[in-house]
Amino acid sequence: APTLIPILGDQLSMNLSSLEGADPKRTVLLMMEVDDETGYVRHHKAKIAYILSAMRHHAEALKKAGWRVDYVKLDDPDNAGSFTGEVARAVGRHDPERIVVTQAGEWRVAAMLEAWETMFGIPVDIRPDTRFIASQAEFEDWAKDRKELRMEFFYRLMRRKTGLLMKGDKPEGGKWNYDADNRKPAPKKDVPPEPLTFAPDTITRDVLKLVAARFDNHPGSLDGFAYATTAEEAQKQAEAFMAHGLPKFGDYQDAMLTGQHQLWHSVLSPYINSGLLDPLELCRMAEGEYEDGNASLNSVEGYIRQIIGWREYVRGLYWHVGPDYVDRNFLRAHRKLPGFYWTGETDMHCMAQALGQTLDTAHAHHIQRLMVTGNYAILIGADPAEVHRWYLEIYIDAYEWVELPNVVGMSQFADGGIIASKPYVSSGAYINRMSDYCGSCRYDVKQRVGEDACPFNALYWDFLARHEERFEGNVRMAMAYRNWNRMADEDRKAVRAQAEGYLKGLDRG
Ligand code: FAD
Repeated sequence: APTLIPILGDQLSMNLSSLEGADPKRTVLLMMEVDDETGYVRHHKAKIAYILSAMRHHAEALKKAGWRVDYVKLDDPDNAGSFTGEVARAVGRHDPERIVVTQAGEWRVAAMLEAWETMFGIPVDIRPDTRFIASQAEFEDWAKDRKELRMEFFYRLMRRKTGLLMKGDKPEGGKWNYDADNRKPAPKKDVPPEPLTFAPDTITRDVLKLVAARFDNHPGSLDGFAYATTAEEAQKQAEAFMAHGLPKFGDYQDAMLTGQHQLWHSVLSPYINSGLLDPLELCRMAEGEYEDGNASLNSVEGYIRQIIGWREYVRGLYWHVGPDYVDRNFLRAHRKLPGFYWTGETDMHCMAQALGQTLDTAHAHHIQRLMVTGNYAILIGADPAEVHRWYLEIYIDAYEWVELPNVVGMSQFADGGIIASKPYVSSGAYINRMSDYCGSCRYDVKQRVGEDACPFNALYWDFLARHEERFEGNVRMAMAYRNWNRMADEDRKAVRAQAEGYLKGLDRG
């Protein structure tokens, strides 16, 4: 009897732990497109299209490599609609002696895998996902007995473990972190590299048709779908980034420009998260660019930190904090997200840009996610669980393990400060400094009150005032509170009235 190896939609890697030691002649690989996964939130159409197309291409690559693949399509009339239902059908078809599977990326699916052994009465070997640099045991070992779980210290551990940018025991250049050099505003002269596009082949065109017909009521657009859908294409995107994006990645990491969602970013997260690219290999490529003198240390360290620091850290944290993290609501925020999050129709230019790009491409870069859409949501007191669902459905790279800590923790401060040492909130001034958005906005970023005042301004001060008891003792917020307290009484009143009027307007819809 064969071994059955189910391969989940974000396990599209040739070097998966479940495949280790498997004999292609005595193994059936099972790949499943199921309604449960396309429907647990209303995913952006392009996100579904990307994942299904990448799965179908990966199945072809596996077959070419000599594997036997049993592939169940979404519109297969007998499709059971869930991983467990499909594994049950496959057990019936193949009568396997055992199941081997790489650990799922999230609590919901992990629970399904756990149930299979009892359900099917055959051994189920659930193996750790070795595509991550840190094992969960390593993260737990680091986390235990620590009062604060700050990314920076975990990152240093990962630098030592991988040897990336290390000179013996010392960090390259003498400092661990060059983030202070990575805050240049939007450039006036430098022009970002032209994004690479990948024309849909027949497999992708079929998937686009399927998604257009079946997920018509999901947000987002499929027009101009140009994502890579194979490991080879993703590799091309990686090479283009190393050559053209990385040299200025650090400088303009936090910058925002009208009409640009890529800038000097890599747009590789969809491929890393679904398995087409290996995170450590990308870091080695980036390190090579530094060693060859093609990219500066602040850029390369910044890039590597995002991956072996932030990415590994949020993953460790996701499993560490447990499945009820999704219910955290430290600021007791309950407002509904405004409808324009799903249409992009707002006269705040920064929001229209970030939302419009997101609906068009299912991608936005980090600062748009954190300091525009995320900032607005926390300032209006949006319900963090709903904010979480929005991010999970709208971004092509969104899987719960990475999205949830970023949204509930970093962006909405709903965990009370496990991830972030202060809430990421700002007035319009920050957006104005880092972007070219405000110049062509209907609102005036310099005004706090009145018809034309940028809404971020009053909302920001009102947020500080609303949460004064929580945050006035936070040293990283001290300057903000000093400025607030320095404002004349009547100005403070006017600002709060402005915010109140604005929020009432939102509630009226
Ligand atoms: P680059 O700017 O080129 O960064 C390089 C790589 O670093 C990324 O490809 C990504 O793999 C990694 N990375 C950078 N920042 C983070 C981070 N904070 N956490 C984890 N990995 C990181 N990233 C996701 O992959 N999926 C998500 O669902 C997601 N949701 C987010 C929600 C919010 C509110 C915020 C603030 C951030 C979120 N991020 C998420 C992190 C980050 O915004 C994206 O990884 C990044 O924008 C992807 O584009 P890129 O590949 O061009 O990134």
